[in-house]
Amino acid sequence: MNRCDSAPQAIQFKDNHGRGISYLRLSVTDRCNLRCRYCWNTSNYSFMPHDHVLRYEEMLALVTAAHDLGVRKIRLTGGEPLVRKGIADFLGMVAERHPDMSIRMTTNATLLAGQTRKLKANGLHALNISLDTLDASKFSAITGRDMFSRVMASIDEALDVGIKVKINVVAMRGVNDNELPGFLKLAQNKDLDVRFIEYMPMGEATGWNQSAYWSADDILAESQTLVSLTPVEYVGGSHGPARMFTMQGGRGRLGVISPLSNHFCGSCNRLRITSDGKLRPCLFSDREFRLRPLLRSPKMGKQQLLKVIRLAMQNKPLGYEILCRQREKVSVASRRMSAIGG
Ligand code: SAM
Repeated sequence: MNRCDSAPQAIQFKDNHGRGISYLRLSVTDRCNLRCRYCWNTSNYSFMPHDHVLRYEEMLALVTAAHDLGVRKIRLTGGEPLVRKGIADFLGMVAERHPDMSIRMTTNATLLAGQTRKLKANGLHALNISLDTLDASKFSAITGRDMFSRVMASIDEALDVGIKVKINVVAMRGVNDNELPGFLKLAQNKDLDVRFIEYMPMGEATGWNQSAYWSADDILAESQTLVSLTPVEYVGGSHGPARMFTMQGGRGRLGVISPLSNHFCGSCNRLRITSDGKLRPCLFSDREFRLRPLLRSPKMGKQQLLKVIRLAMQNKPLGYEILCRQREKVSVASRRMSAIGG
């Protein structure tokens, strides 16, 4: 089996709900060169102080600790991971130390062109590229930047060098619901997956409102009027939160990710670490474990770090319980996505 297809198996740490934890999303920076309105809907931008952001050797120590506890898949995210200097070399360091780790990245791809070959050579297995529209002027309106053509060129470059690509589209009624045919065509014509993610009310400055919510079921129903879809059946293993479909005559596939309408908390295998070194066991829970002091204090050894990560893993909550409790509020978590890493 191709290493990219699923995370290599390891002895997995099980949490109190019996879920094996094998996947770490590591935010390497909270800085981003885009200003997506669904992510951080404000003109008042403030970033973490530089000395709060973990250094690469600290991140490597964290990845090693997670690996010791059975994590075999890591995703570098942000902010925008490619705005951080030296990210390709960091990726190479992770791959060299942990050759059995499946390494992926989530990026807006505006800075990707010219880097794909090096990223692949350094051990990158797959890319998730965020792209919410196929219209250049709408792209500028959503992201605040005129960089659409760079993203499209980067997608082709990544495919050309043989990197597996998934396109993540935040599904927004009134914004990109009229672009369903275009996105289906993209997945039909190119060897990539297009996955619609339900728009989530994350963080204080979210632009979320009920009328902008476009559910996964609606997306599938509307898609089925345009193409013939066949569900992808998975046999065993961890296959991520997306429901995937092949399309008649299509090279790529369509997927939906439904954190709000059809949660996948029962099989969630992931942990998140923010760029200031806070371990967040659940996207929807604001409970975080501060790892930076442990990494920076010479008195604290690796055993202490492992102890805290193990404790956090063990007590990973069921996100949908939090969602239910919080549904009266507009926002389901106090941190914005660019600070958590998506
Ligand atoms: N800068 C990178 C990128 O654009 O992919 C990585 C960070 S971004 C925060 C990670 C993912 O979170 C992106 O796919 C983005 O579309 C998604 N995201 C951000 N805010 C969201 C929201 N309110 N609802 C759903 N997805 C969101």
